[in-house]
Amino acid sequence: MKIAVIGGVAAGTSAAARAKRKMPEAEITIFEQDTDISYSGCGLPYYISDLIEDREDVIIYTPQRFAEKKEVVVKSQHQVQEIKPQAKKIIVKDLKNDKIQEVDYDKLLISTGASPIEPPIDGSELENIFTLRNVNSADKIKDFIATNNPQQAVVIGGGYIGLEMAENLLESNIDVTVVEQAKQILTNFDEDMANIVEDHLVDKGVDVVTNDGVEKFVGEETVEKVITASGEEIETDFVLLSIGVKPNVELAQEAGIELGETGAIKVNSKLETSAPDVYAAGDCVETKHMITDEAVWIPLGSTANKQGRVAGSNLANLDDEFKGVLGTAISKVCDLGVARTGLTVKEAEDAGYQVVSSQIKTRNHAGYYPNAKILTIKLVVEEETGLILGAQVIGEEDADKKIDVLATAIYNEMKADELIELDLSYAPPFSIPKDGLMVAGIVAD
Ligand code: FAD
Repeated sequence: MKIAVIGGVAAGTSAAARAKRKMPEAEITIFEQDTDISYSGCGLPYYISDLIEDREDVIIYTPQRFAEKKEVVVKSQHQVQEIKPQAKKIIVKDLKNDKIQEVDYDKLLISTGASPIEPPIDGSELENIFTLRNVNSADKIKDFIATNNPQQAVVIGGGYIGLEMAENLLESNIDVTVVEQAKQILTNFDEDMANIVEDHLVDKGVDVVTNDGVEKFVGEETVEKVITASGEEIETDFVLLSIGVKPNVELAQEAGIELGETGAIKVNSKLETSAPDVYAAGDCVETKHMITDEAVWIPLGSTANKQGRVAGSNLANLDDEFKGVLGTAISKVCDLGVARTGLTVKEAEDAGYQVVSSQIKTRNHAGYYPNAKILTIKLVVEEETGLILGAQVIGEEDADKKIDVLATAIYNEMKADELIELDLSYAPPFSIPKDGLMVAGIVAD
């Protein structure tokens, strides 16, 4: 059995390793156009600020090490240029010498990921406008900071990557302005929760501009100013564009593989595409939302890894399924853990639910025990049934613990008033007797 994998980061390497484990006799080859495979995109903001000093520390496996350890052939700097699903072949270009080769497969995985959106803004050709996706793109930003000692930066986009970068640029003693076109940062949170994060960023010294897009970049050779739609001029030494990502679907699309309504590759629960023996996983595919049953595209490393495992099993002729996502995510924004799962009020209403919500402030552990921190918990609950549809948690400590309990509760279709029945752990250094998420459940009931 010959298995070819296109793309060698989270989904691709996890699928290849799993398939090899389950079918040791399979010949598996990963084709990756980049120099690196198997790295943590999620660690890159901390690598840029030197919290993680060494490049090797964000790379889980080098191509050589992955090949040796997992007994998989890894062809880095090899770009797949065409998929021929009828003939079961792919056309591959070796980027080191431009040699083109035709490769046969019995089963194929497309795990081509996503790429930063780079809108056609006037002045985009100026130097020192960066995007962040892979280790090489992080190297460029890190080298720029080390060489030029910049004093000020503009981050375009107030999503989680933009905000993680704002924090890490502050750590590098750079003044940061975040420019967000929407009326709030973190548009996948409700506004009342996103405002807590905005206030925190302002307290930390970040200028946050909302409700204002970028009109143009101005400068001689390098970017010197960002001009916003409202006419604001922001001086800067460099720009990070992080307005979102788009799925890398061109290869699949050109091969006649069906895309879904979100624009990402359509797959069934076994991660099969519309072409026989062609699977897809990770940021390039859409998936099912576990609450609404609608197709969603929520590109996350957590999902890519799990989908890679499922795809790997199925490449090895097993019968595994990926059930879908709740959109559970967390990020660190300066001192805050900022977490969400399920639907926000807006998302729930857009999906046709009548909802009630509760927002409570609690402490992560007993107030009399040193260093208790405030946690804000918001629950979104279906009015008619009392089912928990979503949760958002923000706080300096334990947002991760709360959101994971709530994600588990939503997965198990719990009602808000059942949270009080959970037998959760308690001792003063860890929690409070009636946990905040129980209180949020009672309030929302
Ligand atoms: P990718 O990582 O995009 O990998 C796809 C690979 O395919 C790429 O290397 C690409 O070069 C290659 N490829 C594409 N086309 C071809 C071709 N034609 N031929 C050969 N190779 C090709 N997620 C979280 O869950 N939590 C986090 O905290 C988090 N933080 C993040 C922080 C940053 C700064 C970034 C950039 C991302 C973060 N993510 C996070 C998202 C996470 O990194 C992605 O969801 C994950 O990397 C997706 O994995 P993937 O394998 O699907 O795709």
